[in-house]
Amino acid sequence: MTTSAELMARAVKVIPGGVNSPVRAFQSVGLNPRFIDRADGPYVWDVEGNRYIDYIGSWGPMILGHNDQAVREAVQKACERGMSFGAATELEVRIAEFICETVPHVEMIRMVNSGTEAVMSALRLARGFTGRDKIIKFAGNYHGHSDCMLVEAGSGVLTAGVPGSAGVPEGCAQDTLTAGYNDLESVKALFEGNPGQVAAVIVEPVAANMGVVLPAPGFLEGLRALCDEHGALLVFDEVICGFRLAYGGAAQRFGITPDLVTYGKIIGGGMPVGAFGGRVDIMSLMAPAGPVYQAGTLSGNPIAMTAGLAQLRELHDHPEHYERLEQAGERLYGGIERLIRQSGAPCTINHIGSIGSTFFTSKQVTDYASAKTSDTDAFARYFRYMLEHGFSLAPSQFEAMFISCAHDDAVLDETLAAIDAFLQG
Ligand SMILES: *Cc1c(COP(=O)(O)O)cnc(C)c1O
Repeated sequence: MTTSAELMARAVKVIPGGVNSPVRAFQSVGLNPRFIDRADGPYVWDVEGNRYIDYIGSWGPMILGHNDQAVREAVQKACERGMSFGAATELEVRIAEFICETVPHVEMIRMVNSGTEAVMSALRLARGFTGRDKIIKFAGNYHGHSDCMLVEAGSGVLTAGVPGSAGVPEGCAQDTLTAGYNDLESVKALFEGNPGQVAAVIVEPVAANMGVVLPAPGFLEGLRALCDEHGALLVFDEVICGFRLAYGGAAQRFGITPDLVTYGKIIGGGMPVGAFGGRVDIMSLMAPAGPVYQAGTLSGNPIAMTAGLAQLRELHDHPEHYERLEQAGERLYGGIERLIRQSGAPCTINHIGSIGSTFFTSKQVTDYASAKTSDTDAFARYFRYMLEHGFSLAPSQFEAMFISCAHDDAVLDETLAAIDAFLQG
């Protein structure tokens, strides 16, 4: 049997840090990563054959649970027709029609290959549409790894405890203005200090890359109003929230209409897919219809579109999935909240629907600064305890737990029992 440790020893020789995405390394929790062999429903198995109840869910995409039968069978069938054509297909029309028909604020959509690409392209479009250069983002929000978005970014950047990334030219970052999450005054100040220069405000409508942080009442409404007042576009980065917090994402859940929206993760059903869409007058500027260039050899790939469409259909046609995700979130996160209260542990939990984060701080976590008050050593102890007891959590304080439709009450209660035991010490 090949072990995870042996694979890691081989991996670090040929892959930087042994992983193809930093968030997969267990650096911040002081372990070697478990190499995963297969997954089904709420479970993953490592190469040693250990089974874990999984709350990573491939970082969001696997909302139906791992290895969903409908998605898998659709993909198996699609594979028989060829892997890629680099030409227009009916499938691309069907998935675009499906999304435009089922998500009111998406009038037109362009498929790409990742969330990073979706954000990068949406911001270029916002700049092309407004003729302005500056973008406002929020500290602790993560929008993928394009140059201009690696400023006070969340996710792996925050986990590594670095302010940004080496290799980002100053020029790329100088048009990125950073505001405080849940701090409308800071957004207002940036608009007023850069009159007529802000193309767009991009926001995670529910932040999930500094751990889960909810928008304060009025925050998203305030962003909408400020953008309207200053002629800037409001871009919701729904790469995590889209098709999760509701079928229509955070926009539907909070009743705020963005001008543009970016997708990733769930939209691909586990395949590498991203997308951006929104108002038709803006989207019409994309090449070849308009002057804003963007392209992709494998964009709209038939296997990926098949997986995405199968998953979106299942979610849209069965609204009971969203009821279940709400109940499951209440059961697990509400349960953790009770356990924290009972044990008196210096922790706090933020959650909404199927996503949540337990922060190892007694402070309320409402933004980047308060998220960073977390005791990451305490988180690492929690992570290791849970891993040893058969639970796969994201190996970082600053990520979300993802519940899928395949996590039944028994699985959730098993998780609560383990967390209880940990908190009891
Ligand atoms: C994951 C994520 C991205 C980046 O998506 P990739 O597919 O990893 O490039 C962008 N925005 C948010 C909110 C994300 O969570």
